[in-house]
Amino acid sequence: MEKTTLKLYNTLSGKVEEFVPLEEGVVRLYTCGPTVYDYAHIGNFRSYVAEDLLKRFLKFLGYKVIHVMNITDVDDKTIKGAREEGVTLREFTRKYEKAFFEDIDTLKLDRADYYPRATEHIPDMIKIIQGLLEKGHAYIKEGSVYFRISSFPEYGKLSKIKPEELKAGVRVEADEYTKEDVRDFALWKAKKEGEPSWPSPFGEGRPGWHIECSAMSMKYLGETLDIHAGGVDNIFPHHENEIAQSEAYTGKPFVRYWFHVQHLIVDGEKMSKSRGNFYTLRDLLAMGFSPRAIRYLLLTTHYRKTLNFTFEALYQATTSLKRITDFLYELETRKFPEGETKEAAEKIEECRRNFTAALADDLNISGGMAAIFELIRWGNRAMEEGKLLRGDAQRARNLLYDLDRVLAVLPERVVEELPEEIMRMIKEREEARKRKDYATADRIRDELFKRGIILEDTKEGTRWKKIKE
Ligand code: AMP
Ligand code: ZN
Repeated sequence: MEKTTLKLYNTLSGKVEEFVPLEEGVVRLYTCGPTVYDYAHIGNFRSYVAEDLLKRFLKFLGYKVIHVMNITDVDDKTIKGAREEGVTLREFTRKYEKAFFEDIDTLKLDRADYYPRATEHIPDMIKIIQGLLEKGHAYIKEGSVYFRISSFPEYGKLSKIKPEELKAGVRVEADEYTKEDVRDFALWKAKKEGEPSWPSPFGEGRPGWHIECSAMSMKYLGETLDIHAGGVDNIFPHHENEIAQSEAYTGKPFVRYWFHVQHLIVDGEKMSKSRGNFYTLRDLLAMGFSPRAIRYLLLTTHYRKTLNFTFEALYQATTSLKRITDFLYELETRKFPEGETKEAAEKIEECRRNFTAALADDLNISGGMAAIFELIRWGNRAMEEGKLLRGDAQRARNLLYDLDRVLAVLPERVVEELPEEIMRMIKEREEARKRKDYATADRIRDELFKRGIILEDTKEGTRWKKIKE
């Protein structure tokens, strides 16, 4: 396969750029992970699924991807949650961390190589804070350490927010009135009564949220990462602060490509816990939607467009996905004449080319899906006309599974093994039909229907289909 160059929108430059990693063939990717104080909602998963598409496409292009996703297991929300439940911070956060891992497997998110927990990297954070203090980029006030924004002239380069404009709008936490400048942000927070804390050279306390991502990304990926990803709400202040503290500390560029995913909204508002307008993955599964349809929905809106969540869209996703799996089912179960055709080989190659070219263009997923549906339209027609041969069907099927390394929406097997009892019933019915005992045959057919299996009698014998997954 010829080498494909990926073009990606970089928030830092505000442009679509050619992606070239620092080390040839290897991509160092950091994605901001969950704060484990509750179940993640599908807004969060919109970001994770878009990042997963990026990662899987990079792998599809042949890159080795080293992926780190942090687990925020200490912050105001986790501390509050643990206190309310009367359990330790660790007990509280592990419960939601476990749920998170279950959810990412359900949604087939390719697992990261490292999931560092903030509480297990406090010494790494302290080291950076100390370095920043030594270089004059930070100062201590009443046991807390703050980053001095005026010492980093490039502050605002990611979000394009000018430091002067910041002053007016910044909300100052009640315990942060001692800062030199309202824009400065906490690297280390002095211990408060009843809160978990860790010892440090600047006194007992706990780290701020931003320093966590700088420390853990650089620890596992080095001082300059290729791609850093998150939702657009992370651009400011989180990622802006990460740049300031990392670059002030190392003197090197922190991230080469910033990848930000637009929000998932409901009724015009961002889906979020604080607004109470959220669905968790578990909510949707309990309503009977399949994980693959949910993934399909989250995947198929371009990552830089707002995704408006509606149940109608989720039904539509279910239907679109079914068109693909129905096509696969035909490819796998029909009896095709032997041989293969040049036309099919060309059509299939064209689908691969168009799919790859679309995704290489800043992950144009609509273009990618259009290439697949074009193949399906063509393939269904060719089957109806009896023009598709066995080799063609095999080739088309192999392509769909190959592209599914990127999409991860297909079932492991379209034609699955049926339970033995059902196989026996199908056989009994066929024997009844041979005996012309149609009453028995129909009774078995109805029984199978009740169990979600429909039968189709063809020239080549009886085929079965599942009504519902
Ligand atoms: P949090 O647990 O709030 O830190 O969020 C985890 C990730 O989900 C971050 O990358 C957020 O930017 C992202 N996120 C939160 N809400 C939404 C939303 N409604 N749509 C898309 N991404 C979101
Ligand atoms: Zn982060």
